Parts: sequence; structure tokens; C-alpha cells
Amino acid sequence: MNLSTVLLKPGEADRLVAGHPWVYSSSILRLTAPAQDGEVVQVKDHRQRLLGVGFYNSRSKIAVRLLDRDRVDINKDFFCRRLAAALEHRKRYLPLATSFRLVNAESDLLSGLIVDKYGDVLVLQTSSLGMDLRKPLIVELLRELLSPQAILERNDMAGRKFEGLPESNSVLYGEAPSETVIQLNGLEFTADLAEGHKTGMYLDQQANYAAVAEFARGAVVLDCFSFLGGFALHAARAGARHVHGLDQSEAAVATANRLAVRNGLADRVEFEVANVFDWLKGKTSTGPNERLVPVYDVIILDPPSFTRNRASVDDALRGYKEIHLRALKLIKPGGILATFCCSHHVDRQLFEEVVLAAAFDTHRLLRRVASFTQSADHPIIPAIPETEYLKGYAYEVMKTG
Ligand code: SAH
Repeated sequence: MNLSTVLLKPGEADRLVAGHPWVYSSSILRLTAPAQDGEVVQVKDHRQRLLGVGFYNSRSKIAVRLLDRDRVDINKDFFCRRLAAALEHRKRYLPLATSFRLVNAESDLLSGLIVDKYGDVLVLQTSSLGMDLRKPLIVELLRELLSPQAILERNDMAGRKFEGLPESNSVLYGEAPSETVIQLNGLEFTADLAEGHKTGMYLDQQANYAAVAEFARGAVVLDCFSFLGGFALHAARAGARHVHGLDQSEAAVATANRLAVRNGLADRVEFEVANVFDWLKGKTSTGPNERLVPVYDVIILDPPSFTRNRASVDDALRGYKEIHLRALKLIKPGGILATFCCSHHVDRQLFEEVVLAAAFDTHRLLRRVASFTQSADHPIIPAIPETEYLKGYAYEVMKTG
């Protein structure tokens, strides 16, 4: 097959040689022949050394997304190999999971493609034109690989406009159930896959739910930003005395309360509609001669990303600091703060600095007792920094008296 060649400017190849798949339009010297948007091109450095093949899109800032370092055909066979390798990785590192992210774009060498598996239902997102054009082929292969009951498309994310793609939300195969019941670590969750957050519910904390629950035996627990109650329900099952979940979404809180009943945990866990900032402020405000008495053994903070870009990092850090300050005041000496940050723009070190600044202001000494990252179905490739986004820590609030 005759491929157009994208030639890079001098000095632009190193990142790609190291394994990063994005070629920015600003790195391109010229094309040797015109290429259609969505077509496969080959990429070479200024000395004509092959760097790989990938999808081209002149409308995107990421003009080429590399798929392979060799000059392989990007055909059915190629996708079959990549999807099988992705499934193999999940079987290897999450052998007991039945719901997981099957394909996580760059981390599975398939830039522009996300596939989540919720039991027997698959949900697909394509964020590049090249991948979007190959949806029928991907659907065909997913059917062969996993025999799902249905495959849905959740392409209603804003990022598609950067590739010149419209938003769309549809059933690509089979019949979509109105509600999908899935198991995470043996607990039942229901996901509204057509309308829910992201592709339905968060799968990236699957391993951390179980890990944080280990701290909850016999504890009074507060789960902030609880969504469907992932942390709260795991804590309740692990033997927490009482768990209180907070989320501002009425729909999420209603579902979480139903899930508490469904899992036989309603005697120990309840969810409340609240703005976490306001709620924590209310609980930590004291009159002139009042002393605040901490009541929680464990507080979990798993907020949404407060930043979408680098420019808003400072505001985000203020938000992170505020919730940590207030949470620390409410944790008993010897208790645990389990805290997460899912913003790619706030790295592990910066995140810990914010926690420590809050500890300083509240005169708490923290002992770090665990570090967390995203579940293994969201693999991290260090050469592609964008693949790492979720970090978390558990700290014991030390008894210093
Ligand atoms: N811990 C959850 C994921 C949390 S995602 C899990 O593991 O599934 C972030 C959640 O925070 C969303 O459910 C959103 O509704 C909620 N949220 C965002 N801002 C909030 C605020 N200020 N107060 C309360 N909830 C908020």
C-alpha cells in the first residue's frame, strides 16, 4: 500500500522514539503527498528514518496518532492483535474482575479508542477521526472477542470537536438495557450506561475501593464525593460501624442509597445530597469558646478534577487545600485520611504538598500508610505522561500528645 509520508522537523523525533504516539502539527516539516483526514500515513524524521504509522488528521493539533513503530497494515488483523493484547493485560493484572476498562487509548497503543466493559455490555468512545471511521470494524472484532449483549457508543464528550467530530450517543450493536448490573469486588452496582458519568461509572478506583476498605473495620467513616458509593459500600461491607456519603448529585445519591439496600448494607451506610465544601464548613465552624471534637475514624476525599487545564491549577490547589484542612479537623487522632487527586495537571508531589500545607495549618502530623494509583485496567506508560492521572495517599493522623 502507498502511504503518504509525514516528514518531521529536526529535533522533533525523540519523544516519538521514546514511545509517545502524538505528532503535533507544529512538528511537521511537510507531507510528501496529500493525505486525507482519517487516513493512515507513515511518519519519518528529517533524516528519513521511519518512526511509525498512524492516523492523520489535518484538523487536529495532534496531526498524527501513531499506532505502530513498524510499517504494518492498519487492518482487521492489526486491531484484532491490539484488542486481544488489551484483554490479556486485564486478565493478567485483574484476573477476578468482570467489569473493567478493556481499552485505554494510548496505554493500549490505540490512541483515540476507549472501551469499557460493564459485565456483558461494552461502551465505546472514539476521540480521533481515524478511529471513529473504523467503528464498524472495531464493533465486529469486539463481538468476536467477547460476545457482548450490547455495544454502546458514548461519544458525547467535548473533546471530539478538536478532531472535527460531532457528538453522538447510540447503540452500535444489540439491545441496550436501561440499567446494567455489574459486580465490583463482589459488590453489586448499577450503571446507567446511556446517561451516566463518563462511560457510566468510574472503574479506575476498583482496586482502591478494596484497599481503603481495609482501614474501615469498626470505623465511623465519611465518604466525600461519594457518587454511587464505591468507597462507602466497600467500607460498610468491610465492617465499618457507620458510613456517611456526600455528593451534590441527587441522582447519584438516590442510586447509592438503593445500592446500599441492594447489597444488604443499609443499616450501616447512608448517602446525603450536599455540597462537600459547604457541608465541611458547617461541621468545622465553631463559636468563640467552642472546641471542635473530631468524630471520624476515616475520611475519604475523592473529588472530581478541579482543573481542566494548566491555567486553573492555582484555583484547584486552593480547593484541594480547603477540603483537606476541614477534613483533618474532623478526623480523630489515630484516624485515617484517604485522599485522591484525578487531575493530570497536579502531580503526586504537588498533591502531597497541598495535603502537608493543610496538615501544617491544622497542626496535624501525618504518617503516610499507603499510596494509591489508578487500577491496572488504566495502565500507565511513563513515556506517555498523559496516561498517569490518578494518585492517592492514606495518612494516619498521628497521636502526638
Ligand atoms: N468516589 C467516586 C467518584 C467521585 S467523582 C467513585 O469512586 O465512584 C466526583 C463526584 O463528585 C461526582 O459524583 C460529583 O457529583 C461530585 N461532586 C462534584 N463537586 C461536588 C461538590 N462540591 N460537593 C459534592 N459533590 C460534588
